[in-house]
Formats: sequence, C-alpha cells, structure tokens
Amino acid sequence: MQPRPQHGFRPVFCTIVPPHVLDKLAQSDDPDLAGPARRTLEGDAARRTRRQMTTLVPSVRTVPVGAESDKPERTLYDCRHGTQLPGFKVRSEGEQPTQDASVNRAYAGLGATFELLLKAYDRRSIDGNGLPLIGSVHYDEKYNNAFFDGQQMVFGDGDGEIFLDFTVAIDVIAHELTHGLTQYTANLSYFGQSGALNESMSDVFGSLVKQYSLGQTADQADWLIGAGLLAPRVQGEALRSMRAPGTAYDDDVLGKDPQPASMEDYIHTTEDNGGVHLNSGIPNRAFCLLATALGGNAWERAGQLWFDVLTGGRLAADADFSDFARLTVEAARDRYGEGDEREAVRKAWSEVGVPSA
Ligand SMILES: [Zn+2]
Repeated sequence: MQPRPQHGFRPVFCTIVPPHVLDKLAQSDDPDLAGPARRTLEGDAARRTRRQMTTLVPSVRTVPVGAESDKPERTLYDCRHGTQLPGFKVRSEGEQPTQDASVNRAYAGLGATFELLLKAYDRRSIDGNGLPLIGSVHYDEKYNNAFFDGQQMVFGDGDGEIFLDFTVAIDVIAHELTHGLTQYTANLSYFGQSGALNESMSDVFGSLVKQYSLGQTADQADWLIGAGLLAPRVQGEALRSMRAPGTAYDDDVLGKDPQPASMEDYIHTTEDNGGVHLNSGIPNRAFCLLATALGGNAWERAGQLWFDVLTGGRLAADADFSDFARLTVEAARDRYGEGDEREAVRKAWSEVGVPSA
C-alpha cells in the first residue's frame, strides 16, 4: 500500500517552460514572438492563481481485487485550440492511432512513462494504484507550454517561431507526470531547494523515460530536457542540459541558459519560486555524473536509488539538497552495501559541491 497524500493537498502547477524564459521572449520587439509569449504568461498566471484557490481531492480510485492492472489506462482529448479542459475525446486505451500525430505522440509518451515505472520500479502509474492518465492536445492558440494540473496533462502547439508542438519531447511528458509521482510520495514543497529537488526529480525521471524508450545507456543518452522543442531559428538544443547545466541555449531572443552547474554558482532569487527551475541544474548534474560513473542503463542503479529516496518515506517535504544527498548515500548502502555505488554517489554530490555526510 502506497502512502497517500493528506486529503486536500495542493498540486504543483508546473509548466515545462519556466516563466523566466517566457518573460525574456515577451520583451522581444517582434510582435509575432512577444504576443504568444505574453498570452502564455497571462494564461499560466491565471491558472496558477486558480490552482492556489482550489484544493484538489486526491484520486481514491479503487482497483477491484484481482484486477491489479499492468496496463495503462489512457484517454486523449483535443481542445481544438480552445481552453476548455479536457476537450473532445479522440482516443481511448487500446484504440488504433488517429490521423493526428500530436494525439499519437501524447498517447505514446503517457504509455512510456507508465511502462518505466512498472518495469523498472514495480509501480502502477504515478499514484501506485493505476491512476488513469489523461492528456489534452492543441490547447489554446499558439500556446507556448505544457503542464500537469494535478489531474491531467495539457499540451500547447507552440507558436512555431520559438517553440514547436509540445508533444514532440517524450521527456517533457514524463517530466510533467513525475510531478504527479512526487506529489503522491515525498510531496516536496515547491519552493527554494526542496522546490529545485522537485524540479530535478521531474527532469531525472523525464530523461530516464526517454533513455528507457530508446534503449540508451548513460553514455549514449543526450541528457537534454526538451530536445526538439525549440524551432530551427533558435540557437540552442533544448530547454535544459543535465550533463552541462547552463549550456542548453544561447540565443538573441531567449538569452543564455541561466542554470548553475554547482553550488558555487547557486542562484539566490525570489523569482520562479526561489529559482526552482534554475538551481535544479545542480542535483540534475549530480545524477548525470553518478549514472555516467556507474555506466550501463541509468534507470537501473542510479535511477533506483533516486526512486528509493523519493518514495521511501524518509524524504521530508522541506528537504534541502544535502538532506537528499545524505539519503541517496544511505539508499546506496541499503541496496548495494559498502560497495562502489555508495562511493560513486558521494563523489557525484561532492563534484557539484553538495555535502552528503
Ligand atoms: Zn516541472
């Protein structure tokens, strides 16, 4: 039995494109770039406020005895460029692909996330209880974002100038769903270092879903978040780089990727919930260093340790980086003894300047 969040918890409202990127874009002199960015920012701000005022009731779906499902239960909707959710139902679980590539990509991405959790970690969906996965595509006009609202995934088409269709990146889909996993387990507060850990969990498992679905080892993985999402005119390869935070893009319109790669460059700010999408670069890099040092498939040993800590019940909601680091060292000892894994975990944290003792 998985621990359930307290009745009436408030879900994180995370959009994959953080506000600092859209702010920059909204300042462009080109109205074709600034317009959609402003609209996206205004829409996101309104949804964030609504979210803070609404208290969601967690799913209490009961799976009948003997029907413990090893299959996802996906439903896809088309918003037809409106903002009414979920929109028109276009594909249910087990149905054939539709003519719409966005629908089919979202369906596949939800399925890949379900599969990694089940096959690698024996967890049934994000709540551990087979929670149905719902996605809506073609949200709004030129909407430059994707988000999980605590109940479902929502994807925009992008403005076509800076951002492309948000269903193209499987790690973006998995990033958002991982916010659901975190919400149902450690429920890390979405502020400061615990917020940056929350973001990092989503990048870690987002990247692991991509690596698992492509059958890539840690050495073969690109360790990028949102590769393929930036339009060809943008100077950059993705939204974030886990291997080299701060290097994902450097563009006239978007500016330079501001993520720090170690504690030396930690960003103290009140923006972005205390820099949750900025300082997440530090634990992201620690994970990438560990997975690369251990070699093989990153979702096996490195991913298992992060999953153990996230779901193990000892990670406090307000944990900071070193609390988390210490628990990963303990998880390595619990699972693999006093061997190489534990030493590799210590070394990875030490390279990014986070104490783990
Ligand atoms: Zn996020």
